[in-house]
Amino acid sequence: MLYKSTRCGVKNISFKDAVMMGLATDGGLIVPEFVPKYDPQSIKNKNFKSIAFDIFKLYIDDIKEDDVLELIEKSYSTFDDDEITPLRQFGQFYILELFHGPTYAFKDIALQFLGNLFEHILKKRNQTLNILGATSGDTGSAAIYGLKGKKNVKVFILYPQNGVSLTQELQMCDIDDENVFPIAVNGTFDDCQYIIKEIFKDAAFKEKYHLGSINSINFARILAQIVYYYYAFLKVEKNVAFSVPTGNFGDIFAGFLAKLMGLPIEKLILATNENDILYRFVCFGEYAKNQVKKTLSPSMDIQVASNFERYLYYLYDQNCSKVKDLMQEFNKNGKLVFNDKILQIQSDFSAYRVSDEEILQTIKDFYGKYNYIIDPHTACGVKSIIDESIPAVCLATAHPAKFSQAIEKALGFSAPMPQNLAKLSTKKRKFKEDNSVEAVEHFIKEHAIS
Ligand SMILES: *Cc1c(COP(=O)(O)O)cnc(C)c1O
Repeated sequence: MLYKSTRCGVKNISFKDAVMMGLATDGGLIVPEFVPKYDPQSIKNKNFKSIAFDIFKLYIDDIKEDDVLELIEKSYSTFDDDEITPLRQFGQFYILELFHGPTYAFKDIALQFLGNLFEHILKKRNQTLNILGATSGDTGSAAIYGLKGKKNVKVFILYPQNGVSLTQELQMCDIDDENVFPIAVNGTFDDCQYIIKEIFKDAAFKEKYHLGSINSINFARILAQIVYYYYAFLKVEKNVAFSVPTGNFGDIFAGFLAKLMGLPIEKLILATNENDILYRFVCFGEYAKNQVKKTLSPSMDIQVASNFERYLYYLYDQNCSKVKDLMQEFNKNGKLVFNDKILQIQSDFSAYRVSDEEILQTIKDFYGKYNYIIDPHTACGVKSIIDESIPAVCLATAHPAKFSQAIEKALGFSAPMPQNLAKLSTKKRKFKEDNSVEAVEHFIKEHAIS
């Protein structure tokens, strides 16, 4: 399989090159040259790992099969459930628990794999990499757990000093591995993002220090997320709809790709919180930026959905020059209108917007009915199933103990902490920096792997 950019500027690159490139050099996103088929009938009697192997083989032909197997084995042995993503049924609701990885949120499914993949490629190519990222909480710890202890790579994660929860900070800082650098910046999440952006703009610095990123646009992350759609189908044993709490369009795009590959997904339900750019896109055919609003489901507090461009590419029949024009227009006006495509969009997705109040009510109702605690992101998905009123699998994207404030507000008590979360206690590795590009650049110079 070869890969190309949604904006025409990159083509015919290998899987490994696609992984190392991350964002395409023309500013677009990497997509496969074609979408391979994977017959859902062929997964009977398989488990998560063997489905992963089948799917990965379709997309990866420049890594030996034995090595792919080993990467899968390594990536999912860190999960605390043998099924990796167990499915539970409650009446018309199926909950697919995606939070059994080391940081108790679904990003582990992609980032455990991506971390091992980076290590594998760097070793083969005798290269080094310094990963730089900003986090408002969850992505940072998933990236750290994906890369800690890996050879030839160091990871620098900026987070706002007073902008993450104690649990989130401990998850990033209660770490022994010396290739990990959680950096508390004296500023906001926006400041952290600004610093990263500026550093990446400095092409000479980026080149000299082999900087890379681990954000949600890497195609390998999407690839890893296709697997659990098939796995859920295997367990439900019938055609079913999926409800997906989404912000960056990453998780739901993986479902869209699974459907193109041949998985009979009845319907893809897109669940947003009050940051509703994707809801407005599906319902009114308008993709327009707004202010980001803080909600009870912070991992979806996003306005511009970084994976959205991949969907546009398929919406316009893989026409990369059309996508290039559209993205140029969006960058200029902050807005796109799709009057001509609204029917297609609405046959691909239905969408719901869930308010904080509804999140709390849904957590409460679900607990009252089924004695099971859902986290505030998952609650957006569950509420959307209720509104759609069809049976569906809701992707449960985080363990409820990670969002104890919302749970306490809804139920009056907090969700039981998993042992590994409860025992986090010391900030063994924590670095502090001023809110300035120069300070962070200096820190990287001092600690980068060369
Ligand atoms: C990142 C995240 C999401 C949203 O994922 P997308 O890739 O934006 O679809 C939802 N829930 C949780 C808990 C997350 O961490």
